[in-house]
Amino acid sequence: MARETISEQTLAGEASSSSRKRQRLNSIVGEEVVEEEIEEEEEEEVITEVRSGTMSDLDLLECPVCCNALTAPIFQCDNGHIACSSCCVNLRHKCPACTLPIGNYRCRIMERVVEAIIVPCPNAIHGCSEKFSYGKELVHEKQCGFSCGHIDDDVFLFLQECSDGNQNVDSDEVVAEARSGTMFELDLLDCPVCFKALTAPIYQCDNGHIACSSCCVDVRHKCSACTLPIGNYRCRIMERVVEAIIVPCPNTKHGCPEKFSYGEELVHEKQCGFALCHCPERSCKYAGVYKDLYLHYNDNHRDGWNIFACGLAIQAWMHTCDKILVLQETRAGALVTVQCFEEPNGMFVSVNCIAPSAPGVGEFAYVLSYSDGGKTVSFEMSEMNRIRKVSFQNPEDYMSIPDHCMLFRDSLKMKICIRRRGEKKKEGDEN
Ligand SMILES: [Zn+2]
Ligand SMILES: [Zn+2]
Ligand SMILES: [Zn+2]
Ligand SMILES: [Zn+2]
Ligand SMILES: [Zn+2]
Ligand SMILES: [Zn+2]
Ligand SMILES: [Zn+2]
Repeated sequence: MARETISEQTLAGEASSSSRKRQRLNSIVGEEVVEEEIEEEEEEEVITEVRSGTMSDLDLLECPVCCNALTAPIFQCDNGHIACSSCCVNLRHKCPACTLPIGNYRCRIMERVVEAIIVPCPNAIHGCSEKFSYGKELVHEKQCGFSCGHIDDDVFLFLQECSDGNQNVDSDEVVAEARSGTMFELDLLDCPVCFKALTAPIYQCDNGHIACSSCCVDVRHKCSACTLPIGNYRCRIMERVVEAIIVPCPNTKHGCPEKFSYGEELVHEKQCGFALCHCPERSCKYAGVYKDLYLHYNDNHRDGWNIFACGLAIQAWMHTCDKILVLQETRAGALVTVQCFEEPNGMFVSVNCIAPSAPGVGEFAYVLSYSDGGKTVSFEMSEMNRIRKVSFQNPEDYMSIPDHCMLFRDSLKMKICIRRRGEKKKEGDEN
């Protein structure tokens, strides 16, 4: 596993193109990032980027009729079966799978995918470091200087075992050990209309433009590129390609070992326990996996007062001008932020746990109360919101303290009782 990660990172580093950087930056800007911090974050993200996918099922890139590597032009029938151009001629333009005509309509997206899958020279285990678009490595192989001529199978296996056993060989050789390809142009696997990761069903028009099913509906079944009908004919080979391209979790650089079919990594990312969490201390730029952040906070910022233990009510006193109070669970545990927002008619107070939305992490409930001048406002949440970075934009869930309940606006004297979700409140604990 670790071996694969190394090779992917190296490969991604080699081929990081400016277009992908731009795309990546857009997505960062899309998140709520405090303006002054944007520059720094961009740099970090670009350097550690590992956007590439691996395809081990390379048979998908072969013509299903003659089993030769597919090259443009690639044709498909209305049922989504594909064939290379010479097979279309040999079969007299009848699809061998379903007898529908084949040879009129190109499967252009596959032509681009075949170009975009990069494979090493078959002699990589003998030292050749060249890489090619799928199929072209065979042309090169005939004139490769690392070709050993005839080697018998025993020697071949021996060589392969050597490279298998050696975990520290550089990435070129690692790729060679299994028949797999690498894809950097992952944009090809996104719907060209909505830019979301393609998932089955994928449709194509007669000119070979593709779209996802919801875009077909949105464009009323008129191809947005050429206005021909789209939504009747599936591009089945692309559905299989999207499944077959395996990408690591975007947090692989932070230690997440998980891998997914293209697009599914984004579903996982939302609840990945390795997602970066940012230090809530205003002047601190630290970001790390949540456990590391809790240790960092404990070591660098803890003041000894604002400590909580689950199930025990504690005082949470804050100056309004501070805008944030950070509480830490005992023994370098979870970080909980209490934030106040001045509103025209009072004050909003929100409570969040700094944690990824991963199962079992930062799952708290709380009761918050404010008392002053004999008036009490209280607020209960059975599920504390989890955030990975403090935001000073207005919160979704908050306790509202109306002006008439506040004697002084410059400080808030509150009590909070935080407990782990699923653990019952114990009688007598809250006092
Ligand atoms: Zn063929
Ligand atoms: Zn067919
Ligand atoms: Zn070679
Ligand atoms: Zn779409
Ligand atoms: Zn079209
Ligand atoms: Zn992950
Ligand atoms: Zn810090």
